[in-house]
Amino acid sequence: MSEQMPDIPFKSSILPKLLEEDTRIRFRCHTGISCFNACCKRADVTLAPYDIIRLKRRLGMSSTDFLAKHTVPFEMDADGLMGVKLKTDESGACLLLDGDKGCGVYTDRPTVCRYYPLGLLALHPKGATEDQQHYSMIVEPHCKGHEEDRELSIAEYRAEQGVQEYDDVNREWYQLLLKKRSAGPTVGRPPIASLQLFFLACYDIDRFRRFVLSDGFKGTYALDAEVYAMLERDDVALLRFGFRLLRQVLFGERTIDEQPAAWDKRAKERAPVWEARLEAEKRHWQEQQEARMREETTGKGEGA
Ligand code: SF4
Repeated sequence: MSEQMPDIPFKSSILPKLLEEDTRIRFRCHTGISCFNACCKRADVTLAPYDIIRLKRRLGMSSTDFLAKHTVPFEMDADGLMGVKLKTDESGACLLLDGDKGCGVYTDRPTVCRYYPLGLLALHPKGATEDQQHYSMIVEPHCKGHEEDRELSIAEYRAEQGVQEYDDVNREWYQLLLKKRSAGPTVGRPPIASLQLFFLACYDIDRFRRFVLSDGFKGTYALDAEVYAMLERDDVALLRFGFRLLRQVLFGERTIDEQPAAWDKRAKERAPVWEARLEAEKRHWQEQQEARMREETTGKGEGA
């Protein structure tokens, strides 16, 4: 399962052959296949925001703990927009693999695992009015699923793998990435506070909730009490709200009503504090990651 991106082909300017919903593919994966689990033993899984919500619930932990224990951050673009990948062991095997039984979180597995061996490509061609969704085929030598005697359309494969729900929730995130990418230098490098807000809103949903329910946030944005109540109890609603907020913060779109004159006042008074706090949170998260890695290394050394 190497080099899968859920969407934006950040890594390459060369487009693979684009496939459509009605393209027919030959593929089947099942427990009896000779390569079963081989893809998970060389996992390179980039997580989309809804993947994290599903996985943290599945594992019964907060998003903050999930990120620290199960992911590694990486820069998705030259402006420092962060992504997260599932952590692997030294051999490259996904830590969520449950021995020979296969994926230990199968019904909550991430988007790229569901799509495999397809890659999902969200594009916004020059001059197009709407984003487009296409697919590409990933053919890796270890995968024998391509030799199986089964043919189906990509639409049928997507339905079988249950990706629709994931795509529906993640769609606005893909759009954000496309907009950021297509805006390029005209938007410039976002301030560090905006990059950190991107990380919080997209990945660390539980910490983002505390931020949204804080007095400082409520003093800035004019939301009804019912909206706050919904954001307090509903992860997906909060995630969608976060995507809207990011459009406002990253691109200056007025997607969320603000308290009268609050933005100017708050930006003037609080920007340095807000920036410092988010910077501290990022540092804290990175330190946690490093400490955990040190612990793991020490633990292995002791056990050897
Ligand atoms: S999450 Fe599951 S399907 Fe995806 S790489 Fe890990 S073990 Fe494999």
